[in-house]
Amino acid sequence: MNDTSKRRIAVCPGSFDPVTNGHLDIIERAASVFDHVVVGVLNNPEKRGLFSIEERIEMLEESVAHLHNVSVGSFTGLLVKFARECGAVTIIRGLRAVSDFEFEFRMASMNRKLAPDIETFFMMTSNEYAYLSSSVVKQVASFGGCVRGLVPVVVEKKLREKFGSGKTTNQYAGLEIEE
Ligand code: ADP
Repeated sequence: MNDTSKRRIAVCPGSFDPVTNGHLDIIERAASVFDHVVVGVLNNPEKRGLFSIEERIEMLEESVAHLHNVSVGSFTGLLVKFARECGAVTIIRGLRAVSDFEFEFRMASMNRKLAPDIETFFMMTSNEYAYLSSSVVKQVASFGGCVRGLVPVVVEKKLREKFGSGKTTNQYAGLEIEE
């Protein structure tokens, strides 16, 4: 298996605004199956996120630093084009709930039409992250809720910088609130 042309490369695409422990769980599990995983941050000029693309990449790089076979990049436009540029044979997407399915099914079908040689694989979320999304994390953090354990430490710090220390006595989504 020293032939580098036989390396199985997968792409994990997404917005990662910001990366959560749910994303990391999928990336880590993908990294244990594939020779190399490229995390691709979608740069969509029409959708401004909370974090810039550079910030998202920086947080991701720090969060996957312990994984020797994972790298981080960004792309605009067609995902299958990015996957080809990376030499990837597989696109990995995570599935949380049935509500994810329809969109993912449409995307996978379209990508298959555009690039029949690239397969989309789906990985089921780990139970503890089934409810976790970047938008929930941002909402909780914006109201001063504690997101410890839901995101990597670097993201927790960055969210605090964006929203301030967020001292509040309110409860949000049943999560622990910092006093
Ligand atoms: P997108 O806007 O492309 O859905 P996201 O950053 O929200 O980008 O998600 C990237 C990928 O990670 C998607 O495949 C999504 O389903 C998956 N994902 C996000 N959160 C979780 C989670 N908690 N568990 C499993 N997969 C997840």
